[in-house]
Amino acid sequence: MRVLVTGGAGFIGSHVCDRLLKEGNQVVVVDNLVTGSLENIAHLAGRSDFSFIKHDVSNFIFIPGKVDVVLHLASPASPNPASPYGYPQLPIQTLKVGALGTHNALGVARAHNARFLLASTSEVYGDPEVHPQSEDYYGHVDPVGPRSVYDEAKRFAESITMAYHRYHGLDTRIIRIFNTYGPRMRLDDGRVVPNFICQALNREPLTIYGEGLQTRSFCYVDDLVDGLFRCLMADDHLPVNLGNPVEMTVRQLAEAVNRLTGNGAGLTFLPDQRAPADPQRRQPDIRRAREWLQWEPQIDLDTGLRRTIEDFRARL
Ligand code: NAD
Ligand code: UDP
Repeated sequence: MRVLVTGGAGFIGSHVCDRLLKEGNQVVVVDNLVTGSLENIAHLAGRSDFSFIKHDVSNFIFIPGKVDVVLHLASPASPNPASPYGYPQLPIQTLKVGALGTHNALGVARAHNARFLLASTSEVYGDPEVHPQSEDYYGHVDPVGPRSVYDEAKRFAESITMAYHRYHGLDTRIIRIFNTYGPRMRLDDGRVVPNFICQALNREPLTIYGEGLQTRSFCYVDDLVDGLFRCLMADDHLPVNLGNPVEMTVRQLAEAVNRLTGNGAGLTFLPDQRAPADPQRRQPDIRRAREWLQWEPQIDLDTGLRRTIEDFRARL
């Protein structure tokens, strides 16, 4: 298959490219590098089955040659307002890539009669009132809040994807990704795993926003990529949650990172840094992925963190 990967120079996108190429597919990456990096795909440069186009997918996308599959992953993804790579500092780009970028990517899929997969997010559930979150929960999102540029863009993206499926008969998939981490995350992306690992390797205290009692569920990237492939090959058009159901507090995550790195600098609590709309609890209900895709994560937190720490150590 010849596969277009938007956002393929990003963290998850570059792992998706590796897997596609390993399985004998041809890959075309379109990425404007707003949050991604050529370093993530440098090892693929020069291959005859791989090409890279630097382009903002919020503008019309032209791909010469055939396209069998479109994987639409392009979007800023970090909520941290202190990071230049977080969507709070890229609000218009984030809205545009979720709306116009998704429209353009769907247009490519329709023009080539290709299968289309949207990388959506657990953020469509907002600060959830239902726990754990299953796909039939509509969410609790403030349409004008600080996270809305991302949340509402992704909700629109899901909606237009379903419209292309229902109205144009396009063969679509939607995955709702929960916190995913692993090698190649930007060191300065501002999300909790890169922040904690960088701080720990620099022997600094880990910055806990608030009291650290908010929860997340962390999925290692190889598990996520496996779920994405299973979803692509299955026949279901409704959204599927992909994430690790093991829920923990941010404080427990920090303690694990300090333990695995041998960092003795402890924790520092920053109550003012906690964003007002920061979800208090988040855990995927993955029954649908288990039943429809026979998928569940295989890599436990310690194993995933160890691999990520090694990658960060080599880049710091
Ligand atoms: P990332 O920032 O590493 O990757 C996103 C990529 O998209 C980057 O390479 C960036 O340059 C590119 N991009 C952004 N806007 C673009 C545009 N207008 N045109 C072309 N390229 C553009 O982030 P990631 O964590 O790898 O996220 C990948 C996808 O998965 C995103 O759609 C994100 O919303 C989704 N997601 C990720 C997580 C997670 O925990 N990592 C959770 C939920 C959803
Ligand atoms: N967080 C933290 N310290 C940091 C970065 C993040 O305590 O240095 C918290 C953040 O407030 C949130 C959780 O960790 O409650 C996860 O944040 P992240 O930015 O990774 O993404 P989110 O899950 O909120 O989309």
